[in-house]
Amino acid sequence: MAKINKNRVPMPKRSVKERIKDFMEVSKGYTKRQAIEEAKRCLQCENPICTKHCPVHVNIKAFIKKLAEGNLKDAFLKIKEDDPIPAITGRVCPQEEQCEGACALGKVGDPVNIGKLTSFLADWAKENGIEEEFKIKEREKKVAVIGSGPSSISCAVALRKKGYNVTMYEALHKTGGVLQYGIPEFRLPKDIVDEELSYIKNLGIEIKLNRIVGKNVTFVELCDEYDAIFIGTGAGAPIFLGIEGEDLNGVYSANEFLIRINLMKAYKPLEYDTPIKVGKKVGVIGAGNAAIDVARSALRFVADVYILYRRTKEYSPARKEELRYAIEEGVNFKELVTPKRILGEGGWVKGIELVKMKLERSNKSDRSRPVEIKGSEFTMDLDSVIIAIGTKPNRLFYNSVPELEAEEWGGIKVDEDFRTNIEGVYAGGDAISGGATVIQALGEGKKAAESIHDYLTK
Ligand code: FAD
Repeated sequence: MAKINKNRVPMPKRSVKERIKDFMEVSKGYTKRQAIEEAKRCLQCENPICTKHCPVHVNIKAFIKKLAEGNLKDAFLKIKEDDPIPAITGRVCPQEEQCEGACALGKVGDPVNIGKLTSFLADWAKENGIEEEFKIKEREKKVAVIGSGPSSISCAVALRKKGYNVTMYEALHKTGGVLQYGIPEFRLPKDIVDEELSYIKNLGIEIKLNRIVGKNVTFVELCDEYDAIFIGTGAGAPIFLGIEGEDLNGVYSANEFLIRINLMKAYKPLEYDTPIKVGKKVGVIGAGNAAIDVARSALRFVADVYILYRRTKEYSPARKEELRYAIEEGVNFKELVTPKRILGEGGWVKGIELVKMKLERSNKSDRSRPVEIKGSEFTMDLDSVIIAIGTKPNRLFYNSVPELEAEEWGGIKVDEDFRTNIEGVYAGGDAISGGATVIQALGEGKKAAESIHDYLTK
């Protein structure tokens, strides 16, 4: 039996001192030699459960075997069979909870670094001009896809590969959804997103930008023109706390803050005139992926940043790697607190009133419940407050289609085949889940495409 190598090949990354001065990517990525060495650690399990834990079921064992043999092209093409955007998923998937979390090596040491091997291969393929080759057998039928985030991308790609005429309608001036406007450059460089998405255009998917379905294009128009519709409109509307002071200047929602930075390039003040003002001391409410992205972005504007979280950081739902990077970079955690009101002066934020919390065991769930400690209120000086406690589907689209059945919390109702209550109309991604992951959205888009194909061929 081959010797088990318990330790990962370390991922080269930029020093904290260097990276907090700019928005460039933290990880430097593996070299070819390092990637092959890491791939050779894979045990090639007889029953690989890593693939079962991947929502799009990438054949991880097979691609890693090819990489370990030095066959980079076939390794890349193997991933591409199931994952249309590997340069992105390799960088942002919560692998520790999915494929890597299931890796057998994880029981004795570090799991194989599947995420970084994926992004290595995707980057290598781009540099070397490697592309999938396939023949599309054209079909007559036309499908409209609303939105251009991961769910829409995977639905559109799967349908186009089957020969359908696919048109994507995107409200913004750029494709990608959260990949474009939400996740910052230091995690997901936008040239990689643009490059990866050029693939959908090359496949022959028509993209219509600046088209808000429900406003400048009606749903009825789409129903008249297309044989089927996929709704992948995401969950882009921010949830607020509903406390006093949320209307003060200096209070941002995470989405607004990140859109200013990512889409409107506020971090390049010499080239773009997008206003952004964080001051010297910033409070971020929440501790999920969006909160960590916001905190690390604010830090790069030379601010002292405090994550204000009602639990302790072990409970943070953010990717573990990003949480680690945030702490390394100097983001402060104020744990077991919840905001009561935001304090202002002259219309601007000047501080926040918080109350202390304690965690109580709950019989109903494994997760401890945060409970207020009465009389423990205290205040903290702040120049700005960014609220990152979650998002919900935007009402604009739904209000224009009153016959579309929705859940009470606002998500679109679908059955197990991603069918809505309207015939020929399907939905997936955050629009049905309220907020999950890139890979889950990809998986749902792909499954919805299979259902649409069944519907159009029955
Ligand atoms: P979205 O990506 O939201 O895309 C929806 C698209 O639809 C948008 O482009 C929107 O403009 C468009 N649209 C909306 N309404 C209309 C309309 N009426 N007409 C036309 N177009 C419309 N997941 C991870 O796996 N890893 C991470 O590290 C991670 N980090 C995140 C960080 C942040 C800041 C956020 C907000 C989310 C993060 N997520 C992460 C979650 C992940 O990005 C989402 O689950 C995923 O993008 C959902 O994809 P989607 O296709 O459903 O929607």
